Amino acid sequence: MNITVIYHEQSIYERQIRKAISTLNSVQSYFIFSLQKTDLPVLNTDPVCWLSFSDSHSSGEGYNIFISDKPIDDNWFSHEERNFSLISLDSWEDSFSPPSLSAYIMYQIAQASINFEADLSEGMLFNLVHWKTQGCMFDFCDNKPDIKIGMVSGAICPTCRAALASYGTDEKALSATESILEAVRLEAIGKPILINHNEAFIVMRFSTHDENDHAYKYGIIPALNDIGINYRRGDDTILSMPILQKVQQAIKRSRFIIIKVDEKNLNVYFELGYAMGLGKPVLLISEEPFIDNLPTDIKNLECLTYPHGDYETLKEKVIKYFKDNYHIE
Ligand SMILES: [Zn+2]
Repeated sequence: MNITVIYHEQSIYERQIRKAISTLNSVQSYFIFSLQKTDLPVLNTDPVCWLSFSDSHSSGEGYNIFISDKPIDDNWFSHEERNFSLISLDSWEDSFSPPSLSAYIMYQIAQASINFEADLSEGMLFNLVHWKTQGCMFDFCDNKPDIKIGMVSGAICPTCRAALASYGTDEKALSATESILEAVRLEAIGKPILINHNEAFIVMRFSTHDENDHAYKYGIIPALNDIGINYRRGDDTILSMPILQKVQQAIKRSRFIIIKVDEKNLNVYFELGYAMGLGKPVLLISEEPFIDNLPTDIKNLECLTYPHGDYETLKEKVIKYFKDNYHIE
């Protein structure tokens, strides 16, 4: 789902907004957030009148999240509708922080995004919210500082989760939202996730002068160079910690994980499971003859295949994958 986050060109919080979007795009891949600046006067009036704002934006195209530095006239943090939302950054840093403003922005965007996905009107949302704070993203937070309880807990409660599923919400969207909430939670408790936003970690059975070596050198690396993504592989640097710990840390910290599977190395499958358990977006690569022999669990995952020895096709498919999924030019 593509979502545009729109902020006023005079916003003094541009850096925090950019940081939030960068993290949002790194911790999940279901929602793709892009940024846009605007000179819309309504977004820079003090206060922003919600009713006239919603009147003038209800018929907009696509999914849009508007961010204003100014307060909303009803003193709410935000409003969510079916296809647009309005988030106010006013007074967060002075009255509520910590957690940081960018964690707050991520939290609000998580709320708006799952709203879009579940196609909830503000009326439907009202039926869902908890009027009494319980540490769920759907707490109403009549007492505004209560929002921090939701951020520290970083969760959608089982009741709300079941309700969202019953509205037909995609499980992938729910998981993506939970990955965002986990990032918010870690930041709120002072252990922010450190992610290299432009780095891919490559996992495969490394060897020399064979199919894997050639696929790496002539397919994967040229593709990543073409689209400007940095890369690292398991054996590029020698650290003092045990290799497994090193690999796990790299999987945690890299935005993209590329895993080439074949039949010969169980470590690769362990690392695949680890990356999936962390909710990381994984690009699986396999040669066409191998794919039929892979374990059933792996076969059901989306896998990029290429004919044995055809590294040009592999390169093109890797480039296409990143362009299609991450809007990388
Ligand atoms: Zn709930």
